[in-house]
Amino acid sequence: MAKSKCPCCECHEFEAVPVVTKSGQKFCLVQCVACGTVVGALDDVKVASVVRRAEHRLNALLEKVTGAVVAVRGKEQGEGK
Ligand SMILES: [Zn+2]
Repeated sequence: MAKSKCPCCECHEFEAVPVVTKSGQKFCLVQCVACGTVVGALDDVKVASVVRRAEHRLNALLEKVTGAVVAVRGKEQGEGK
């Protein structure tokens, strides 16, 4: 995959900056960390839902891993280790 770069200074690092308009709309701007050129904007609602979905998936994964650890421990104890 090609590496993203700023169209202005060719920097490769970006940051998400939350902004609120005068009318109260929330956005998240993606900008170059070096010069501040905005390269994208995200709807804050979408950002929040993406974070929530990621959190949900992470919790599910943690539950699976915890369950696997408990199963392995139970098996080891059953074998007398
Ligand atoms: Zn830049």
